[in-house]
Amino acid sequence: MQFDKLIDNFDKEHLLHPYTSPLMPLPALKVTSATGCCLVLSDGTALIDGTSSWWCALHGYNVPELNAALAAQLSRMAHVMFGGLTHEAAVALGKTLLGMVPKGLQRIFFVDSGSVAVEAALKMVLQYQLAQGSSEKCEIASIAGGYHGDTWNAMSVCDPVAGMHRLFKPLLPIRYFAPAPRCSFDDPWDEQDFAPMQELLQRRRHSLAAVIVEPVLQGAGGMRFYHPQYLRCLSEQCRTYGIKLIVDEIATGFGRIGRLFACEYAGICPDIMCIGKGLSGGYLPLAAVVTSEEIAQVLGHYAPQALMHGPTFMANPLACAVSNASCRLLLASPWQERVSHIEAQLKSLLYPLCSVPQVAHVRVLGAVGVVETYRPVKMREAMERLVSMGVWIRPLGRLLYVMPPFVISSAQLQQLCEAIAVVVQDPELFA
Ligand SMILES: *Cc1c(COP(=O)(O)O)cnc(C)c1O
Repeated sequence: MQFDKLIDNFDKEHLLHPYTSPLMPLPALKVTSATGCCLVLSDGTALIDGTSSWWCALHGYNVPELNAALAAQLSRMAHVMFGGLTHEAAVALGKTLLGMVPKGLQRIFFVDSGSVAVEAALKMVLQYQLAQGSSEKCEIASIAGGYHGDTWNAMSVCDPVAGMHRLFKPLLPIRYFAPAPRCSFDDPWDEQDFAPMQELLQRRRHSLAAVIVEPVLQGAGGMRFYHPQYLRCLSEQCRTYGIKLIVDEIATGFGRIGRLFACEYAGICPDIMCIGKGLSGGYLPLAAVVTSEEIAQVLGHYAPQALMHGPTFMANPLACAVSNASCRLLLASPWQERVSHIEAQLKSLLYPLCSVPQVAHVRVLGAVGVVETYRPVKMREAMERLVSMGVWIRPLGRLLYVMPPFVISSAQLQQLCEAIAVVVQDPELFA
């Protein structure tokens, strides 16, 4: 396969891609179709997808049930504004979602991306505290090593030091960070792990409006799994101090790490949950803020008596229809079995890589497998090697990781893992 032939010159000269140079961009391979767990490139090469297109494509690509739901909705209407109007697609999706999220969450605010869900959630807690007469409660805390999106306030709660947004730090609102949890998912719980957050909450109890965290799995900020007891402590202490808890389930939601939502591992119900990514099964941009009746009541009773937010494409009917079909397909599928099967296979094929000199750590939870190396991967060279082996995996610094569609076959998953093994055993592919 010739890598250069897969690149579109117009694209290279005029279209900007995420997190890459406008002048010397990483190659963007041209995809002509995608079906099942395979992406088909312009020269006919099929790549097994290890990314689910950034956590989204739970059921793979070109899924008949989702295509049908989208076509049916399209034949009725593509879009109407959500201000003053509603439609069956939003109502049906709302009903489905309420059957999935923790019982205490009753109110849903649809938006068009995960970052915007985080923005709306932060506005919601600030308005809530104001409405309560607690105007001094206007600060936000989080934990280091997190990732919550790329818009302004979402950036402000991402990891402040190693995160991809440190460039903007001087311009971002000040947030308060506890160190990232150290106790990992399978470790015995260590009380000390929560101590720094406990101290932060106690010290800033009069000024904190909310804490926002990714539950159990910190994704793009480092792909680390932490102990659910941390969340349990956080939930209890937030309640004690009247601080709202926002869990960002945008990456972890919809079964990815073995529970429908990661906060189920801790048995907690947050005040606000942000969902996105897997919500639409990877078809259309849709995300949501799901919150409690209590927050809705407080927002509704005090001026301005409304959440001051309303995206143009809020609750887009096409996105809602396909998301509802995706959620229903997920619930009707043996997803727990599939995810635990993927987990077992990832463990058996990736854990042995611990003994490779280049490898610092290997971790697996649910349908997420991570190989952390000591040195950063040379992106261009590693990508070229991975593609030549017929897989689509996108390394991130010192991380090679996969989160495949749940419908991946054992043979396909094996090919993904073998490709990772080849990369980590080649010192030439590391800086
Ligand atoms: C991807 C992600 C976001 C941002 O979602 P976008 O749809 O890219 O704006 C926020 N939080 C987490 C945990 C994510 O993984």
